[in-house]
Amino acid sequence: HVNTKPPPEPSPLRKAKFFQANMRILVTGGAGFIGSHLVDKLMQNEKNEVIVVDNYFTGSKDNLSQWIGHPRFELRRHDITEPLLIEVDKIYHLACPASPIFYKYNPVKTIKTNVIGTLNMLGLAKRVGARILLTSTSEVYGDPLVHPQDETYWGNVNPIGVRSCYDEGKRVAETLMFDYHRQHGIEIRIARIFNTYGPRMNIDDGRVVSNFIAQAIRDEPLTVQLPGTQTRSFCYVSDMVDGLIRLMEGDHTGPINIGNPGEFTMLELAETVKEMINPKVKIITVENTPDDPRQRKPDITKAKELLGWEPKVKLRDGLPLMEDDFRKRIGVPRK
Ligand code: NAD
Ligand code: UDP
Ligand code: UDP
Repeated sequence: HVNTKPPPEPSPLRKAKFFQANMRILVTGGAGFIGSHLVDKLMQNEKNEVIVVDNYFTGSKDNLSQWIGHPRFELRRHDITEPLLIEVDKIYHLACPASPIFYKYNPVKTIKTNVIGTLNMLGLAKRVGARILLTSTSEVYGDPLVHPQDETYWGNVNPIGVRSCYDEGKRVAETLMFDYHRQHGIEIRIARIFNTYGPRMNIDDGRVVSNFIAQAIRDEPLTVQLPGTQTRSFCYVSDMVDGLIRLMEGDHTGPINIGNPGEFTMLELAETVKEMINPKVKIITVENTPDDPRQRKPDITKAKELLGWEPKVKLRDGLPLMEDDFRKRIGVPRK
């Protein structure tokens, strides 16, 4: 028996369902540094529709200019401390200023963003059944008494200091994530991000890698904050984005550290930038700010074992890529 009937026309509802086979992904803070690189990567997959919400406090439309007008992309000005009604399948929740000078500028707003903003995104995740990933931070470990830091360490954080709006804010955000998970069955993922650098960082945002590169390009002295022996570990942004996507797509809630374990003192970083970008520039020491963590280095055993992830880009390979971008934006070409 041969069926000669043509296949039935899909009903409008079926068509709609088929269309929805696309993944709708919300990226909060997608106009920022890490968020915009994440959007670039997500947009490479033709099955993804990406919606960015951002209030442009530290982010910029320029970071997304390549996607504006694209049929699978949407950009909305929205402050996540206000409720958001939208239908999505996944939420990458990044919105929050990350540089100390910006998060200290309006600390009450920073804590509202972390607490009310995260609550709203969890309420949204609950209503639509979306999986949600929070970009937490190594700052939840405070000025760590354990080195390197693994995820079991509960941290050494000053609850009333000038950084608390950020680090305690992220700690509450993590708590909210787990309470929504336990109480409402929301699918959650938590990344604890360590210092990340790369193209599109704000030139004058005060973070150490962006400061040193901009200073070297402008022939200004590199400002090492005292004592200069404090350490950080720097992850290139493409590695970070790979780690975040693996965490979202994998089966583990986390928290999982995502960062590069290569550890440098700020004096070593200054020497490296000087040698690679401008050997004539001076290195000076300046006052530090309160509660600056003295050492920081991720233990990434969990990321390696559970996500099959580890960073690929070494500091000496990443710095020139960032230098290219900064030279273009500052308007000083390589000699
Ligand atoms: P960023 O400042 O470049 O990006 C943050 C984005 O969030 C900006 O576009 C900003 O405009 C937006 N935003 C801030 N408050 C908002 C609000 N209330 N409503 C809507 N949008 C808002 O910072 P980044 O370096 O890209 O960091 C992204 C995320 O990663 C942050 O959650 C940060 O805490 C986390 N993180 C970053 C680092 C790092 O080294 N860059 C380290 C640890 C954690
Ligand atoms: N919320 C939101 N978008 C939604 C659903 C909820 O922004 O699609 C906000 C809502 O306004 C609330 C928060 O998320 O402030 C928490 O929502 P939930 O339903 O968990 O709690 P409730 O509204 O009962 O306080
Ligand atoms: N720092 C510095 N010179 C600068 C800016 C920062 O020496 O111009 C130091 C700062 O004291 C801290 C480290 O660099 O010890 C990292 O600071 P950043 O603000 O980049 O990130 P944090 O890890 O503190 O969030």
